[in-house]
Amino acid sequence: MKSFPAIDLHLHLDGAVQTATILELAREAGYALPAGTVPELDRFVRVSADCHTLTDFLKTFEIFYPLLKTTNALERISRELVEDLENQGLIYAEVRFAPILNVADPADTAQLRAAVEAVLYGLSSAQQLRTGLILCCYRGFPPDLAEKTIRLALDLNEERPGSICGIDLAGDESRYDASLYAAAFGNLGGKLPVTIHAAEAAPADSARKAIELLGARRIGHGVRIQEDPDLVKVVREKGIALEICLTSNLQTGTVSSLEEHPFAKYLAAGLCVTLNTDDPAISGITLASEWELARRTYGLSLADVQQIARNAARAAFVNEADRTVLEAQLLSNL
Ligand SMILES: [Zn+2]
Repeated sequence: MKSFPAIDLHLHLDGAVQTATILELAREAGYALPAGTVPELDRFVRVSADCHTLTDFLKTFEIFYPLLKTTNALERISRELVEDLENQGLIYAEVRFAPILNVADPADTAQLRAAVEAVLYGLSSAQQLRTGLILCCYRGFPPDLAEKTIRLALDLNEERPGSICGIDLAGDESRYDASLYAAAFGNLGGKLPVTIHAAEAAPADSARKAIELLGARRIGHGVRIQEDPDLVKVVREKGIALEICLTSNLQTGTVSSLEEHPFAKYLAAGLCVTLNTDDPAISGITLASEWELARRTYGLSLADVQQIARNAARAAFVNEADRTVLEAQLLSNL
């Protein structure tokens, strides 16, 4: 394989922060980190090769998260992410973050708006790369905060069409059911497409609820959908796209090995699978390394890669004219 489909649909802004940036943000804020150099800090903010639990995976975020609650930090990490993705040759990326996690007071609408504006401004520095911004609502937080996030997305799009490309629900699906957020997502009224983190840490039914109650057009991960053949059928027939993130699933213990991962099985079954990074800095990966991993593990043919490129274009939260251009670009790269 010479190249790979240069598109990432599942990429968390806060999981893509460079270690050197964390050090600088800490210095500026007078914030104490457990280490003072990049190699030493990497041991705390990147998971080790033997990480296989969600707890260890999430622990890495805690170290630097307080540094990501200013608009300066958000603008900077967004700009640096764009630069990094452009250097890697990506042509389209949908970046996501949860505004309520990146402000001092998540109930303060002005702070939420400022956080999103800062990220949009950082992303707008892109030269070649095209970006979309997905706002994440968060399980475990009160549904009215999801409502605020959704309202903000709709307001921004009314003021400047296309500011926000989609809405996500992240967080602990094993403890906070999709039904808690159904009313909030009902406010979308079909104005923005929805992707939901589901069937990663909870059984297949979590993805079913994401589709039925929250209107998901895409599922983040969806690893455990394989446990329910009926749901696999629904996902295929409705053309629900699956945002697969292999290394992340391995590191969080969602699968115990890549051989156990349903990626290849889903592809063979005609599901709309895509390949993405999730938290590239935390995981110590790039989109290219994930493609290399997938190729090595599953022996993907050129036809498989072309199919995944077409899937990704089909799944992207863009309008139909842009979708056609994107698909042609992705395929011509291969
Ligand atoms: Zn994710």
